[in-house]
Amino acid sequence: MLVDIHAHLNSDELKDRIDEILSKCNIKIINAGVDLDSDLETLELARIYKDIVYPAIGFHPEYIEKAEKEIDKILPLIDKAIAISEVGLDYYWIKDEKLRKKEIEVLSTFLEIGEKRRKPVILHIRGGMSDFLQLISSYKLTFIIHAFEGSIKIARKILDLGGYLSFPPIIVRDKLRRQIAKEVPLDKLFTETDSPFLGPEKGKINEPCNVSITLSELSIIKGLGKEEIEKQIEKNFYRVFMQ
Ligand SMILES: [Zn+2]
Repeated sequence: MLVDIHAHLNSDELKDRIDEILSKCNIKIINAGVDLDSDLETLELARIYKDIVYPAIGFHPEYIEKAEKEIDKILPLIDKAIAISEVGLDYYWIKDEKLRKKEIEVLSTFLEIGEKRRKPVILHIRGGMSDFLQLISSYKLTFIIHAFEGSIKIARKILDLGGYLSFPPIIVRDKLRRQIAKEVPLDKLFTETDSPFLGPEKGKINEPCNVSITLSELSIIKGLGKEEIEKQIEKNFYRVFMQ
């Protein structure tokens, strides 16, 4: 069974052909909400595609300017989700210092809830890694960095903190990600697509079944059978998200 721990099936690129997309492979998908509307859409998708699509509730840091308006309505939805996502820090698009501070504040709120309610947190960290590392060390929770982009040194630090790393199909055209994947122990590894983004081919729409492409690449990188890696990631999925 394939596992995609991070997708956006409700995106404009995918939402009109979800049936077709899901019929292509045997897969479990965690769909991530990025704001109030998409969180609600995510819950609806999980209801329609029960046991295939699982809901993650969150608030993407890129939308920080509407945090005041939406956060209070989003937080109660977390009880209906198997994970908190998409949350994190984005200093790539958000340059304003005040807004970055607000991002940290909002993320802290989600981390507190993750800790209290024992929900794993799947994170988007783009820039802001040092602020994130400082923050995460004061929480006791399971966390996964989705589409990790950073150095091998930072990857090791995340593993030291007990975190997981997740790799999208873009890995086939990203040497640094391949080097990092080589270092990640199988029991700390996840596959994802971030569909419709981060696909194997630049400019092409990505889909969840493409995690199979990531698995093939991981098989080469690690010198292990594709099925063995697939099975281990399935095990990781049940351990982290289905307890
Ligand atoms: Zn995403």
